Amino acid sequence: KAKSLGKNQYCIYNDAMGKQEVRKMELEKDIQMALDNDQFYIVYQPKWHVKENRLYGFEALLRWEHPTLGTVSPGEFIPITEETGLIIPITKWVLENACQQCKTWQEQGIIQPISVNLSIKLFQLESLTEMVQDILNKVNLDPHLLELEITESMVLHDINDVIFQLQSIRSLGVRISMDDFGTGYSSIGLLDRIPIDALKLDCLFTNNLNTPSKRAIINAIVLMAENLQLDVIAEGVENQEHIDDLMQLGCQVMQGYFYGKPMRAEQVEKWIANKDKMSLSFI
Ligand code: C2E
Ligand code: MG
Ligand code: MG
Ligand code: MG
Repeated sequence: KAKSLGKNQYCIYNDAMGKQEVRKMELEKDIQMALDNDQFYIVYQPKWHVKENRLYGFEALLRWEHPTLGTVSPGEFIPITEETGLIIPITKWVLENACQQCKTWQEQGIIQPISVNLSIKLFQLESLTEMVQDILNKVNLDPHLLELEITESMVLHDINDVIFQLQSIRSLGVRISMDDFGTGYSSIGLLDRIPIDALKLDCLFTNNLNTPSKRAIINAIVLMAENLQLDVIAEGVENQEHIDDLMQLGCQVMQGYFYGKPMRAEQVEKWIANKDKMSLSFI
């Protein structure tokens, strides 16, 4: 395997090996160094409470600026880090930096919760709660300003253990939301056992609002969430039509390019200043 060859050796790629596989090997090799070489950065995407016409929070999304390949999407590199175990130090880095940014904003008067995506792999750590607690202490951040986004795929794992760990994280005061809801292995039957505060409706729903059956499903999800006292956040909101339809279906919090793309921290500050100028005419 090319991976196991030393630095000064070369390897002739097998013709049968697809381009994709070659790229994956290259990414796998380079991502080991990416943390040490400051190739990662975080962008923040706003979530907007439409009904109350106010910010609801920001989501931290990871970016990798590869020295020769350019920006590699997390959809491509996160699965690699999950395979290699690098997801653990990387998540720690994201948590530390996002919490620090949240604290800095708080000191500037921008008091907004921040959410960080948490891979199911992190639940293999016995000390996950401790890790989160240590970071909150180090940054001196109010736990209520941190939210962790998990996905439905966790129902495939040792669900009792995951529930136990979520309870312990939540007892710190940290919020939990379920990301990409409605796409994975349905966890509806577990919603009364999994300790969460919010559901994020996958963008697939937002993009299919014109079909009556999809509308019926969203309507049912929103009603169910209301009864379970969960917030619902719609993902992938790109235009006014999406907003109108989602509002009509009872969805009040939205995230998507219409409100703001994922931005570097400095851009976020400009975005907020600009939005303030426009005041309530923003929508
Ligand atoms: P996600 O958590 O569901 O994040 C939403 C994705 O949708 C983001 O893609 C965001 O840029 C994109 N998006 C937001 N608004 C719109 C819109 O209006 N239209 C469309 N078409 N897309 C929109 P991104 O940043 O490429 O991230 C992809 C996925 O990678 C994330 O999905 C998340 O699962 C994962 N990811 C990102 N950062 C991290 C991280 O730090 N840790 C872990 N474990 N996963 C991460
Ligand atoms: Mg997310
Ligand atoms: Mg999502
Ligand atoms: Mg998604």
